[in-house]
Amino acid sequence: MTTPFHVLVVEDDPDVAEFVKLVLVKRAGMQVDVAGNADKAFNLLQENEFDAMITDIEMPGASGLDLIARIRGLRPLLPIVVMTAHASVDYAITALRHAADEFLTKPIAAAHLVERMTALAQRGRTDRLSAAGQVVLAIGAHPDDVEIGVGGLLAAHQAGGDSIVILTMSRGDRGGDPNDRQHESLASADLLGARLFLEDLVDTRIEPADPTVSIIERVVAEVSPTIVYTHSSHDRHQDHRAVHQATTVATRRVPTVACYQSPSATVDFHPNRFVPIDGFTEAKIQLLACFASQSDVRAYLETDFVLATARYWSRFGGGRSCEPLEVIRDTSVIGKAWTPSRRVPAHSPGQAPQ
Ligand SMILES: [Zn+2]
Repeated sequence: MTTPFHVLVVEDDPDVAEFVKLVLVKRAGMQVDVAGNADKAFNLLQENEFDAMITDIEMPGASGLDLIARIRGLRPLLPIVVMTAHASVDYAITALRHAADEFLTKPIAAAHLVERMTALAQRGRTDRLSAAGQVVLAIGAHPDDVEIGVGGLLAAHQAGGDSIVILTMSRGDRGGDPNDRQHESLASADLLGARLFLEDLVDTRIEPADPTVSIIERVVAEVSPTIVYTHSSHDRHQDHRAVHQATTVATRRVPTVACYQSPSATVDFHPNRFVPIDGFTEAKIQLLACFASQSDVRAYLETDFVLATARYWSRFGGGRSCEPLEVIRDTSVIGKAWTPSRRVPAHSPGQAPQ
């Protein structure tokens, strides 16, 4: 379930306002706010995120033109549709061509209204979300799985201003005191500024179907990730494979899904993307240090091993240290939406040798 588009209708004629609202709510499933004048519209625009706006031109007080001029600084990406009963008012249309995205002449046909508003609201939402950065969801079977697999990449996402969510399916009872491991997971999430979902599935008994799929679907619905990182299917640990399978089912509408390497990955782990994490290896070490209760029993958490692994993978990517990924879905522009966005990498992601 995606969140309905949120649209603002600015119209002083209550009959027209009601018609537009009714069409957009009933036929397009949108959430619609109505403002009867430009001042009220401006207040709503300051307090809410809209995906699109449709406005009348001639209204008592400030006109639709004034409103557009006023909000362009506030909401530069907002798609704006202008409704006018005066198709012949060429001067207004000319003036508006630069600021409005579309004109509709009254009376407006319901089907046309739905079609145009849906297209523009989709564009408005995409622009708004991509300007706000990616939402990254990292899914692991146990505490410390995602930090080992993509700790450097998550730190790079954080530095790039992206939102990070960690979903850990079990508290790892078999691998230590669950209370310790909960605190450790929280400490690591804090370092990343990440939101943590810590679930309670039984360690070593994680199912590839429900409840695992439902848990992931619930989190996906709640946070709307644009990128998901999860376990590889090429892994000796049955929990890791189960989480991989459940993730591929539950994230089928997520634009980008990629699998990270675990210490239990098999030689079949076959990464096709190598993301430089230069500048973030220290952050990765610090994340892993949060899991102190494990580090004296787990050789794979040792700093030299972690650094050597990242160093090794750089032979396929750029820079001096990389994290490898098996990309299973990437519908966004490669290297743009999916790499730790903007500002981050000193090197573009490398490609596997063909
Ligand atoms: Zn694990």
